[in-house]
Amino acid sequence: MDLGIAGRRALVCAASKGLGKACALALAREGVHVTLTARSADALEAAAAEIRAATGVTVTTAAGDIATEEGRAAALAACPEPDILVNNAGGPPPGDFRDWEREDWIRALDANMLAPILLIKATVDGMIGRRFGRIVNITSGAVKAPIPILGLSNGARTGLTGFVAGLSRQTVKHNVTINNLLPGPFETDRLRKTMEGGAKASGRSIDEEMDLRRQSNPAGRFGDPDEFGAACAWICSARSGFMTGQNILLDGGAYAGTL
Ligand code: NAP
Repeated sequence: MDLGIAGRRALVCAASKGLGKACALALAREGVHVTLTARSADALEAAAAEIRAATGVTVTTAAGDIATEEGRAAALAACPEPDILVNNAGGPPPGDFRDWEREDWIRALDANMLAPILLIKATVDGMIGRRFGRIVNITSGAVKAPIPILGLSNGARTGLTGFVAGLSRQTVKHNVTINNLLPGPFETDRLRKTMEGGAKASGRSIDEEMDLRRQSNPAGRFGDPDEFGAACAWICSARSGFMTGQNILLDGGAYAGTL
């Protein structure tokens, strides 16, 4: 299928590794020019070089923390008029809500709720004017089935989801869609770090912990970031204009609800 987005411009946040990078690569394979962000400049430049070499599209970078004003300004300076915006940032740490102070909540809200909302605010009217826009927020399966130790994530991401549910119905008539992609367990650094915590607590090795987790998924494996990128590219395509405000769960069937 020709996704019909060759030559478009995408701003992909938090994209030097993992799911963000996979989205950027999948878009670049469709001929989309991409701007990547991440905090560490070295890893960011390495990812940009890899995507450039693999696809031949224009790849630009903006190093910075997307949860800050400065980080977002740098991202928008590198890609002032994106046709496609992929919102992403690192997830908040696990813990017990009794230990979290107001500052912990503000950090989670800044990264996982307010940064996406402020980037949408900065870009959506341009998309409406150009009569094409695709916004994808990488959230989490925790939005559908909250994970007890990830209260900061459950809360902040659900706030974003509620906001998007309202706005996405106002932009779709202008061919600007806003959807959320909800990862279950995908094999990335973030997943491995989470598993390290579990391994320490259980006394198992990290490999044993990873195997147990794979076996507990109906698919018998973790997701491959490439699968996530491919889903993102389709949502960002010219073919998907009738889908907005949706929460698409990619979790190998781990969420056991009928709907
Ligand atoms: P990852 O492999 O750790 O990659 C995170 C990427 O985001 C890196 O490029 C990192 O680079 C960048 N980043 C992190 N914080 C940033 C910030 N404040 N500003 C700019 N860039 C930032 O993580 P991932 O697995 O791809 O996860 C992506 C998102 O999906 C996270 O929010 C995670 O919680 C969520 N998620 C993941 C899974 C999973 O199984 N992988 C499941 C559910 C939800 P720098 O560190 O250099 O900034």
